[in-house]
Amino acid sequence: MQIPEIGPKTALFLDFDGTLVEIAETPTRVVVPPDLPVLLSKLRDLLGGAVAIVSGRPLLDTDRLLAPFSGASSGEHGAAIRHIDGTLDEVRSEVAVPEEWKKALAEETGQLSGVILELKPHGVTLHYRLAPDRQDDVWRIARSLVSDDHPWFRLIPARMAVEIGVKATTKGRAVENLMAAPPFAGRVPIFIGDDFADEAGMAAARRLGGQGLRVGEVFGGEPAAVRAWLQDGVERLTRPVMA
Ligand SMILES: [Mg+2]
Repeated sequence: MQIPEIGPKTALFLDFDGTLVEIAETPTRVVVPPDLPVLLSKLRDLLGGAVAIVSGRPLLDTDRLLAPFSGASSGEHGAAIRHIDGTLDEVRSEVAVPEEWKKALAEETGQLSGVILELKPHGVTLHYRLAPDRQDDVWRIARSLVSDDHPWFRLIPARMAVEIGVKATTKGRAVENLMAAPPFAGRVPIFIGDDFADEAGMAAARRLGGQGLRVGEVFGGEPAAVRAWLQDGVERLTRPVMA
């Protein structure tokens, strides 16, 4: 697939884990390259602010990891969306995985060594990267709480993890919501992601006249290649126009 170029009318929607940074053994062990926040800040300025992080992590988590970069962002697969002016569009705080579920999940995963339970404001993620042989157990536990037709929650398969998330929200919702307002409106969206949950974001970007790029297909599965492409975009946008 031809890799598109970042142009002055581009809007970027970037997943975090597996896209901007290499996936770590556990979410807390992720390593952010020291020049990444500066790179994102430059792109944000060159694109009039139209750079958004669209992650499954909570908003504050990517904020902290990418500081001092700040900008538009969506956390928990569209459950929380923050516009560039700081306006927050978040599903109601009552729409969150019940405390009893969290307790039950903590007890059950506590029996499975290597399985990590990540609690988020609206959802929870069960990570089995350190215990791949526990995949079936983890899915059984998750399915015991969330059936396919559950009215409020859904299971989101991820790389070596399964997440219980709010049903009404997706990364596609985040893209559509942000694209409806400045500085994104009228731009051509490019969504980059590496995982199942990114498909909705890619589909939304395509519906809005842009592109959805899979890291595995377009960037050889390498976040370093995504970062190089972003750096290339910075150079392209700052190059003086030849008369
Ligand atoms: Mg990812």
